[in-house]
Amino acid sequence: MIRRTLSLILPLILIASAAAASLMLPKPAGFETAANFVAWGLLAGAAFLGVHFHRLNVLLGVGLMAMIFFALAQPWAIAQLSLPVRDLIWMTAWWLLPVGLLLLAWLPERSLFSIAMLLRLLLIVAIALGVVAAALGGHDAQLAAWLSVELLSIELPLMLTAIPQGGLLMALLAVLGLLLKAALDRHGILPLAWLGMLGFSLTALLYWPDGGSMALLFGAAALVMIVSLMQLSYRLAFYDELTGIPGRRALYEAMGRLGGRYTVAMSDIDFFKKFNDTHGHDVGDQVLKMVALKLQSVRGGGRVFRYGGEEFTILFDGKEAIEAQPFLEEVRRTVEASHFTKRAANRPKTKPKKGQKTASGSNGTKLKVTISLGAASKDERRPNPEAVMKAADEALYKAKEAGRNCVVVA
Ligand code: GH3
Ligand code: MG
Ligand code: MG
Repeated sequence: MIRRTLSLILPLILIASAAAASLMLPKPAGFETAANFVAWGLLAGAAFLGVHFHRLNVLLGVGLMAMIFFALAQPWAIAQLSLPVRDLIWMTAWWLLPVGLLLLAWLPERSLFSIAMLLRLLLIVAIALGVVAAALGGHDAQLAAWLSVELLSIELPLMLTAIPQGGLLMALLAVLGLLLKAALDRHGILPLAWLGMLGFSLTALLYWPDGGSMALLFGAAALVMIVSLMQLSYRLAFYDELTGIPGRRALYEAMGRLGGRYTVAMSDIDFFKKFNDTHGHDVGDQVLKMVALKLQSVRGGGRVFRYGGEEFTILFDGKEAIEAQPFLEEVRRTVEASHFTKRAANRPKTKPKKGQKTASGSNGTKLKVTISLGAASKDERRPNPEAVMKAADEALYKAKEAGRNCVVVA
């Protein structure tokens, strides 16, 4: 869990460090132009990936950032918009980015040509046009007064005094809202990416009117989203949805990388069909999750994969089957010892038969789950992964024949 979270935020930390380092270094001539190219390339890349993965909220979020970046720091906009107007846009951005990115992170994804998407897009465009229209129509002072309304009469650090207090409050709420979303989210990847985008784009606002630094930071914001979308697609492809552990594709990938000695153990839940029939498929799914969790406690360097259905594979790199056997025995006992508690909220679809061998408590029904395991290692007779897997499968079959809840080594 910790390792997974770390692997998610490590790219974020790397991007942040690189951005911070480039901000501090002296900027060579032509830096701004180069940074602009990179930023627009990354923004376009993030927008493209958003569309590609059917994440149109990402497209809108990147569009929102691009719009603000364009209005505040691009030569054409600077030539067209007077300083007070851009000042107003800057103030609006302090409200718009936190609220917009928070909403986009929470709102459900819809298809490109849906009313919901059209409304979201129209809202962003309307706000943008509204701000410019208000400014050009001479209402900029009024709007600025609204945007920078003082909530608390406190002295903020010098760097933050110009920022509308309301915007800072929104940023705080957005950070909390995105952290909450990350905690609730299945993968946690995208909410963290939204958080990273928010952090970088607000930092970019801090650097206004330094266009080069802003380009760098908006580019970093887009890069965070790109990296996260790729992490997410990897996760969806290689990880099993139900149990959250690597799936069969990941197993084949891992086996393809193995060189010398290794052991494959196939594990199968005993009488699982009966279990499903008696307690319902939902309870069966919960048991699968529990077994996956218990299997992951295997020692001896075993890596666990969901092979499919109620079958799991444990891979020991650099170990003979006979060396892996004690660890398999241990994990088999762990599963056997962990009585699964059926929660009352998850009622079976079919009523359990009377006289079932279960101990009933006030907070649920305790059920017994066991697994059988078959293991085989690579040797002269089984020189390739297919042969090793087949031997492990045959050993598993023998374990079932031998009465189940045991380990057989080929
Ligand atoms: P044995 O001890 O011989 O392994 O008996 P078994 O009933 O476990 O074996 P069998 O292969 O006949 O049954 C496997 C069952 O696993 C069939 C199906 O109902 C169940 N199953 C497979 N995948 C899932 C899943 O994702 N969720 C749930 N709830 N059940 C699953
Ligand atoms: Mg089976
Ligand atoms: Mg089974």
